[in-house]
Amino acid sequence: MPKIYMLDVTNRDGVQTSRIGLAKLEKTILNLFLNEMGVYQSEFGFPFTNHEVNYLNANLELVEMGVLKPIILSGWCRAVVQDIEASIRQTKVKHLNLSISVSDIMIKGKFQGRKNRQDVLDSAAEAIDYAKAHGIETVGLNAEDASRADMEYLIQFAKVAKDHGADRVRYCDTLGYDDPFTIYERVKQVAQEVQMPIEIHCHNDLGMAVGCSIAGAKGAIDAGVDAYINTCVNGVGERAGNADLVSTILAVRKSSGMAHMNLLDERIDLSKAWQLAQYAAYAFGLPISINQVGIGKNAFAHESGIHADGALKDASNYELYDYHELGLGDPILVDTGRKITTGEYSGIRGFRNVYDKLEIEFKDDREAQQVL
Ligand SMILES: [Zn+2]
Repeated sequence: MPKIYMLDVTNRDGVQTSRIGLAKLEKTILNLFLNEMGVYQSEFGFPFTNHEVNYLNANLELVEMGVLKPIILSGWCRAVVQDIEASIRQTKVKHLNLSISVSDIMIKGKFQGRKNRQDVLDSAAEAIDYAKAHGIETVGLNAEDASRADMEYLIQFAKVAKDHGADRVRYCDTLGYDDPFTIYERVKQVAQEVQMPIEIHCHNDLGMAVGCSIAGAKGAIDAGVDAYINTCVNGVGERAGNADLVSTILAVRKSSGMAHMNLLDERIDLSKAWQLAQYAAYAFGLPISINQVGIGKNAFAHESGIHADGALKDASNYELYDYHELGLGDPILVDTGRKITTGEYSGIRGFRNVYDKLEIEFKDDREAQQVL
């Protein structure tokens, strides 16, 4: 039976979002949390970009050391040889997603006559060949703006991916244009025709990113292939955001039509959800809204007479899932006295003090030094 895997893109789509960002250290900690939570893969950055190189290589070293394990760290770049060449030259990245636009509106609007549909296919093929020939183990080919692309062309594009040995094709609803009904049909059709694992990448411009993600994944599953849903922690991401990680996991695990199907990668450990969400909120400097799915302050709050009475008699009257499942329920300690903070000029002692308080453990100073 095919499965649904989580592929988090907070450290790529999340950090490229307007007005927000993460320090390299914060990205590293996020990777550690994602690993603990059983997320299959973290798209951890742009390996062709000079200022990311130290962070990326340090995290790949953490993989070698077994600190970041079993999570897979993958880079993102354009489906052009120049980007892949720079990625391989500058970093030890072994997994890459290569992105190129596939809708006519983007092919015309972005390439301004320099590339037509055939050129896009050729460029994708050349990029995959180059990546595979230079030791990249997993290659995903990203169809940017897939939701606005001609269906026959999209299938042709996915076939190029498969024929050239790509491991997955990413269906990007770049503008959040799909609805759950259209994306189900479109992804299913691509999956049926091409029979290769599909990544689903949805944005929330119409408020449907999570719905579209699980519908697209179901389309892939119904066609007999694995699905990899792209998410961001706390639903950050370009414009209205990407599909929220925790909401998507809950939707696959708890919704009426999917709960019984047991589709989710069994390594997912939701009990880390609250801690991860809190850390991301702290690192991004973005408070979690009270009605945030699963981890907002009101997610398990009841005030009206009928609801409070019902919830007190039996929580399942008004709660779909238990707060313990998401790692809630423990009292929170708030420091009111001395405060040590960390920044780019901090030393190891202060750094370890801050992360001890976040209950993040390092084996020794050397390991901490790797991420500092
Ligand atoms: Zn995106």
